[in-house]
Amino acid sequence: MKLADRMSRLGTESAFDVLARARNLEAQGRDIVHLQIGEPDFDTPRHIIDAGADALRNGFTHYGPALGLPQLRDAIAEYVSRTRGIDVGRDRVCVSPGGKPIMSWTIEALCQEGDEVIIPNPSYPIYESMANFSGATVVPLPILEERAFTFDPQDLRERLSPKTKLVVLNSPANPTGGFFGKESIEQIADVLRGHDCYILSDEIYSRMIYGGEHYSIASEPGMLDRTVILDGFSKTYAMTGWRLGYGVFPAELIPHIERLAVNYVSCTNAATQVAGVAALTGPQDDVEAMVVEFEKRRNLIVDGLNALPGITCQKPLGAFYVFPNVSKLGVTSKQLADRLLDEAGVAVLAGTAFGEYGEGYLRLSYANSIPNIEKALERIGTVARELAG
Ligand code: PLP
Repeated sequence: MKLADRMSRLGTESAFDVLARARNLEAQGRDIVHLQIGEPDFDTPRHIIDAGADALRNGFTHYGPALGLPQLRDAIAEYVSRTRGIDVGRDRVCVSPGGKPIMSWTIEALCQEGDEVIIPNPSYPIYESMANFSGATVVPLPILEERAFTFDPQDLRERLSPKTKLVVLNSPANPTGGFFGKESIEQIADVLRGHDCYILSDEIYSRMIYGGEHYSIASEPGMLDRTVILDGFSKTYAMTGWRLGYGVFPAELIPHIERLAVNYVSCTNAATQVAGVAALTGPQDDVEAMVVEFEKRRNLIVDGLNALPGITCQKPLGAFYVFPNVSKLGVTSKQLADRLLDEAGVAVLAGTAFGEYGEGYLRLSYANSIPNIEKALERIGTVARELAG
């Protein structure tokens, strides 16, 4: 088989590989604790499920507009305007099957050979995969543990060039839980203001913050017309399998994003979109309860990891991941992740699954029950003690 050359540039998301390996071990009778997967372990709130099921019964079983149902685009525009303190209408919104297509479509619409895309490293692997696929050059922006897993705005400044087409931001961040507060975002906006480039601001974890407040770069003067806000329902409303996300785009980009949507998916599942309206406009208690529970688990896993030899772990301010430093254990991140899965029955990801600056770290998702987190800590402890001698 002779594939197109560009296929050699397309990466993947190893969480799905590790899940497959873990399932394989389970099929052989092994007990595995899943800390590799980036999805809430809660059920979608009842009123959202009801809205989706009713929609199916009430005829939402046909094609719809490529940019999304008007009622959902309105609800998204209202929600994003309210939560970001900006004024956007339906005309800037594109609904998509999950948040992921928004990164692909943004990169495909804007980036090509000769362009540079600045991407935090480590970060969600699809940014880099799609930027490489587009033919653009990826410029990694190191995420630093000593800055609580953020980057130094000066490092961003040094990487900007006349070729920079797109800068990716993600707060709260996958895989580190790193969080950029208002002051940091203001500094980043100052650096970007003088530069003619777009920003992809992935805000999919914006409701999962412990103590701080989400602040979008789109709220900064002059930034709205250069920023694509990516957000969605997967994490906030525990709806990963429904596939529902959206982008809020500079108005000039929308016709081009619409064409990409038509080419790739025609439209997003209609009943799912009706469920999305219920999610945004209905009660938010389930979201709040989930975040309270995540915070408890975060505290448990951070304290538990810090009690182990050779491992240190910062307390992240957002998302549902921890990114412990395991560099003192004397093996690579990948070797440790493999050993934890194969020997100890704990599925985690190597930090390097998110870029080369992830060496020396693991990513653990604490979207799992407290008893399972306790079991995982015990098992990780056994391996850590063996390695630490
Ligand atoms: N952005 C980040 C940072 C993520 O971690 C994920 C999923 O893990 C996504 C986007 C994609 O979300 P969705 O499942 O809605 O496509």
